[in-house]
Amino acid sequence: MTALVDLAVKHTFKNLSPALWSSVQPTPLDKPFLVSANPLAAELIGLDPEALNSQLFVDTFSGQSLLPESQPIAMLYSGHQFGSYNPQLGDGRGLLLGDIHTPKHGHWDLHLKGAGQTPYSRFGDGRAVLRSSIREYLGSEAMAGLGIATTRALCIIGSNTPVQRETIENGATLLRLAKSHIRFGHFEYFHYNNQPDIVKELADHVISLHYPESAQASDKYYQLLQQTVLKTAEMIAQWQVAGFAHGVMNTDNMSILGDTFDYGPFGFLDDFNPAFICNHSDHQGRYAFNQQPSIGLWNLNALAHALSSLLDVDQIRQALGQYEPHLINCFDQQMQKKLGLLETHPEDQSLRADLLTLLQNQHSDYHRFFRQLCDFEEQETQQPLRDQFMDREAFDSWAKRYSERLLKENSHQTQRHQTMRQANPKYILRNYLAQQAIQAAEDNNDFSEIDTLLKLLQSPFDEHPDFEDYAKAPPEWGKHLSISCSS
Ligand code: AMP
Ligand code: MG
Repeated sequence: MTALVDLAVKHTFKNLSPALWSSVQPTPLDKPFLVSANPLAAELIGLDPEALNSQLFVDTFSGQSLLPESQPIAMLYSGHQFGSYNPQLGDGRGLLLGDIHTPKHGHWDLHLKGAGQTPYSRFGDGRAVLRSSIREYLGSEAMAGLGIATTRALCIIGSNTPVQRETIENGATLLRLAKSHIRFGHFEYFHYNNQPDIVKELADHVISLHYPESAQASDKYYQLLQQTVLKTAEMIAQWQVAGFAHGVMNTDNMSILGDTFDYGPFGFLDDFNPAFICNHSDHQGRYAFNQQPSIGLWNLNALAHALSSLLDVDQIRQALGQYEPHLINCFDQQMQKKLGLLETHPEDQSLRADLLTLLQNQHSDYHRFFRQLCDFEEQETQQPLRDQFMDREAFDSWAKRYSERLLKENSHQTQRHQTMRQANPKYILRNYLAQQAIQAAEDNNDFSEIDTLLKLLQSPFDEHPDFEDYAKAPPEWGKHLSISCSS
């Protein structure tokens, strides 16, 4: 374990062409204080958890002082936003402080979000508000708790720095950890600016750092695209299974490693509503929950186009062709787990599809349904599961089919109940829970709800007997919160 004073970072990305970045010093926050720190993330970078309670920690991650050896940079990229190409984006309010490699947990980039203006800020103030920092912090750790590939978050630092959004709010910083901060939009920028040499340099960099086994292959760029296709497909399958809507699947928010990236107005489903739109600026529903699989492919097409100087058309076609079957396969496998089915039978597809239709028609709570299904007993009347449905007969007829299907594979009830609890989380970052934690933090400087949620969401499959309330159905007001894009 390393003390903070000894946490020397490297600058692997800064060693690449200067066309890719600009040196920028953070603009410190005013009167910074710790809001929350995450010991699990500290472990990933080998940081001694003692460091989390120190003044130096607050100073370092509010931009007052730098980590040893740190040479912060802002990265340059572009991207497709809501379907239109924006030729110039980049880190407008975040800085890459450097990277750390530990033998146990590998490579991690340290990125300070909300650290002030950069050459890529355009009209923005370079800041992040406390509200959105809390959402990213809890959102990314919730996804990690669910076993979904994601960036992580080390801490939130609050401040008195006023930040103008719809109202005046307080500025905050979030220290994000990611295996890579390279987005699809990085490749797009240099492709559309006719700099194929930089596209190649970036691709070689990703391969050498993350796919060293491909480095000598003659088709290494094909392998890179293929890996991104497969990982993105798997990630989106996991989102669909977990009831997660990202909200802003622009290509600048897509990680080249297929990690869930850039948490904005994301949301988890309460009632099972496939057309759920979590971003209230998304009027067309481009990024609605049930659009995510096809948008994933759209975004991969944009990436493939940006890599076209390195690949021929057949390679691109072959890589992209693997997206849909892989996504469906991952989705099917995980839904079987949620249902506690070990075997695959021909009727499983329709059993699953009819269940989802039933949940949709009955406005059932997606997560509570599956958690209660973990107690399903064959050939019994299913109280209290049954009571969740207005149309109890419709549920009964599905339950009868499910029961018969379980008998077909001689499902072992106790064992099934146990394994299903590892596939169906009890604790979900519902919007209203995040909102309560934000309210307490903003109104009373009370950060205890953030820490409570962090703990529950980091082990969402376990029982936490003192925290039953957090697993309850959301109150009616909590189901219709609209999340602003301003952050
Ligand atoms: P996002 O919607 O957070 O993915 O950001 C899209 C682009 O806008 C990125 O280039 C961000 O760096 C930039 N951006 C977002 N908010 C700000 C801000 N407050 N100040 C400067 N740039 C910003
Ligand atoms: Mg972004």
